[in-house]
Amino acid sequence: MSDPFHDELRTAVRALCSDYGNDYWQAADEASAYPHEFVDALTEAGYLACLIPEAYGGMGLGVREACVILEEINRSGANSGACHAQMYTMGTLLRHGSDEQKGRYLPAIASGELRLQAFAVTEPDAGSDTTRTRTFAERRGDRYVVKGQKVFISRVRQSDLMILLARTTPREKVEKRTGGLSVFIVDLREAGDRIRVGPIGTMINHESCEVFFDSLEVPAENRIGEEGSGFRYIMSGMNAERILLASESVGDGFYFIDRASDYASARRVFGRAIGANQGVQFPIADAYMDIRAAAAVRDEAARAFDAGEKRGDGPNMAKYLASRAAWKAANAAMDTFGGWGMASEYGIERKFREARLYLIAPVANNLVLSHVATHVLGMPRSF
Ligand SMILES: Cc1cc2nc3c(=O)[nH]c(=O)nc-3n(C[C@H](O)[C@H](O)[C@H](O)COP(=O)(O)OP(=O)(O)OC[C@H]3O[C@@H](n4cnc5c(N)ncnc54)[C@H](O)[C@@H]3O)c2cc1C
Repeated sequence: MSDPFHDELRTAVRALCSDYGNDYWQAADEASAYPHEFVDALTEAGYLACLIPEAYGGMGLGVREACVILEEINRSGANSGACHAQMYTMGTLLRHGSDEQKGRYLPAIASGELRLQAFAVTEPDAGSDTTRTRTFAERRGDRYVVKGQKVFISRVRQSDLMILLARTTPREKVEKRTGGLSVFIVDLREAGDRIRVGPIGTMINHESCEVFFDSLEVPAENRIGEEGSGFRYIMSGMNAERILLASESVGDGFYFIDRASDYASARRVFGRAIGANQGVQFPIADAYMDIRAAAAVRDEAARAFDAGEKRGDGPNMAKYLASRAAWKAANAAMDTFGGWGMASEYGIERKFREARLYLIAPVANNLVLSHVATHVLGMPRSF
């Protein structure tokens, strides 16, 4: 059932995105440039602060509304990857930070004066298995000294603040493997040469970097919550992230379907529209239904999250189903466009590359299968 407020939100986001068409995104992609103008426009409109409570200057909306925003952005052909983390990275701070920390940072994040759109979790030897995190934050008086390396840290060069997951107790000294990890807010403006950042070239324009910490000093007051409980704090943020990125996949899926069905209806081969051939129309219809189904699971997960559900089942399933549905739609669109699918001017090949990311990140789909097999269906764990 459609919700009038959501419909209004969709229309407004669609209107904003219409100023940034395929040419804009294509040029950014070719130059590997950060889409500053687009991100500034979203910030000014307040959308990136939609999850921040009104008391801190945000819109005070729920994850359901954030889903609408991100879905529409991607449906327009834009790439939410440039900005989505400004919406949800602050969730770790909002849910687990002290009142003092929230008061210090959230109003400036809400206004866009401060960008908190980098979160540093992944390491060369700690991707799917976060408990292998080696970056170490050693307590020395009123500070922590951080040494280590992170990889694939997106938007760090466009952030003032970064959420960092680091080990504070060696892995061999903790009872539970998820213990001994802590979360910090790192002020990148004060880091100087204690942080070195270098881009990682990828098949999409995503501003992902490797980050080295050379004895970076972080004030103890910047630790979020209790020392050693960081894994739980990060996971609570990841549930929101999975639902939101599922929405980007849903948006991508609709983007491909919109374009493929239009093209199939217009393109004439052998004297008739290619879309009149069932070999062309069926894969598009098939992918469309998968996207609708994934959107329904995403909606259910978003509603549950907003109602306080902490489990990861819904967010994981939404992310898995939406990423696969988008990928099916991407391939249907590629086939429909024939050779033109590969020509950058049609916007299919760029989106095809972008949609592929979500099968791997923010969590690889095999890990979702493992979660459902063991946590939902109760089968034995393999790791
Ligand atoms: C463009 C991009 C942006 C990113 N941005 C960020 C970011 O901002 N911050 C951040 O912290 N991270 C970020 N990441 C990292 C991302 O979260 C990881 O790539 C992802 O979690 C997978 O980790 P990995 O690449 O080390 O793969 P690995 O853990 O090495 O896994 C490799 C493959 O093996 C499979 N596999 C592993 N173990 C099992 C198992 N037990 N059973 C079955 N299959 C298994 C996985 O499914 C995967 O397909 C980003 C990645 C990319 C590509």
